[in-house]
Amino acid sequence: MKVTIFGVGYVGLVQAAVLAEVGHEVVCVDVDEGKIEGLRQGVVPIFEPGLESLVRSNHAEGRLIFTTDLQEGAEHGEVIFIAVGTPPDEDGSADLHYVLEVAHSIGQHIQHPCLVVNKSTVPVGTAEQVRQAVFAELKNRGHEDINFDVVSNPEFLKEGSAVADCMRPDRIIIGASNPKAAETMRELYAPFNRNHEKVFIMDLCSAELSKYAANCMLATKISFMNEMAAIAEAVGADIEAVRMGIGSDPRIGYHFIYAGAGYGGSCFPKDIKAIIYTAGSVGVDAGILKAVEHRNVTQKQVIFDKITRHFDGGIQGLTFALWGLSFKPNTDDMRDASSRVLMEALWQAGARVNAYDPQAMEEAQRIYGNRDDLTLCGTKEAALKGADALVIMTDWRAFKAPDFDVIKQSLAQPVIFDGRNLYDPQRIEARGIRYYSIGRRAV
Ligand code: NAD
Repeated sequence: MKVTIFGVGYVGLVQAAVLAEVGHEVVCVDVDEGKIEGLRQGVVPIFEPGLESLVRSNHAEGRLIFTTDLQEGAEHGEVIFIAVGTPPDEDGSADLHYVLEVAHSIGQHIQHPCLVVNKSTVPVGTAEQVRQAVFAELKNRGHEDINFDVVSNPEFLKEGSAVADCMRPDRIIIGASNPKAAETMRELYAPFNRNHEKVFIMDLCSAELSKYAANCMLATKISFMNEMAAIAEAVGADIEAVRMGIGSDPRIGYHFIYAGAGYGGSCFPKDIKAIIYTAGSVGVDAGILKAVEHRNVTQKQVIFDKITRHFDGGIQGLTFALWGLSFKPNTDDMRDASSRVLMEALWQAGARVNAYDPQAMEEAQRIYGNRDDLTLCGTKEAALKGADALVIMTDWRAFKAPDFDVIKQSLAQPVIFDGRNLYDPQRIEARGIRYYSIGRRAV
């Protein structure tokens, strides 16, 4: 099928590459000229395992075209995806102006019937707004006769395993108001739906809400465990033991019940805010979700509070080695990352940071490159040199079994603040390293 994808970010680019890989002819449109030019040269602007080779091979074979030409994009697709950002507005609601901008572009340029697919995470009712925006432009052009429909197809990929998630999705949710549109989507996704049925067809509102419900449930699990961790710490229990104890109950399960330094990324924080806003606008008090958000804001301060207490408030002039900048492993994405809250608090208190991340160094350079209280280091060992303490903020695999002798010898004070509970407290303390983690009493 001929497919166009507006927005070549984490979602749009991965979806485009995966659809091209199974044979669809995909045109990717973005307003970012540098990004599009880079992609034409084979430069993939984000780190996502498996993505680069997929993009390069499909581009070389002519099934994946990159353009900034909105008209070219709109004229190409029988199916046109909107996969642009939906950042939070000042009041927490989802800012839809990128989505609606694309809808207007589609209406201004389509020449033939098409199906418009909302892939961005958008509040209930957005499909109707997109329909109106497209139709208004068709009317301006005197082309009300061009048939189009709008469906909702929320994306559930996880950064860090986005290619695999799109190749083998757990579910494909399609919100449609007529069977023909649903059938077109079934045909598009047929190559991903062979092993067993993964397509769920539902009404538009339910599809739009499903995405928020999924992210809110996951964020709730994290905040719940972080609250339990605070209780565990206060009563002298170990949240890791508690986690394993409750995870063994199949009704609870082991997934997503790790305590840590808070959730980040481009989705959970903004989606929680957006649904709280939506609930308020329809007279529902989203008390649980407000608490989830509040716990997360508090949680992002926990490591800084432990540092301040350990150093008795005197952290001005100290240097902290920081391992992990991305909001989670296997991505270079630092949007809303807990590492940023920590670094900014350390800088505010007059400390310096030596940071290392396996993938997010360029992103850190882009965001904080001009600061003289940040040194971006080439290895995790280099970050330790001259540092007073080590802080871990992302659970990258490369941090899980470090050489503790090197850590001890390199640090001015042998102390680790671990925001991801990577190590066994007894073992670390037995090596003469002071160890602080989340929800576990200090040994
Ligand atoms: P992103 O910021 O990485 O990419 C968005 C892209 O859209 C950018 O390249 C931007 O230049 C482009 N863009 C903006 N306006 C445009 C226009 N008028 N025409 C063409 N391109 C335009 O965003 P993302 O992380 O890919 O997220 C996109 C949407 O998908 C959001 O609604 C997000 O909530 C949702 N989502 C994200 C993830 C994730 O893990 N990142 C997962 C599921 C859903």
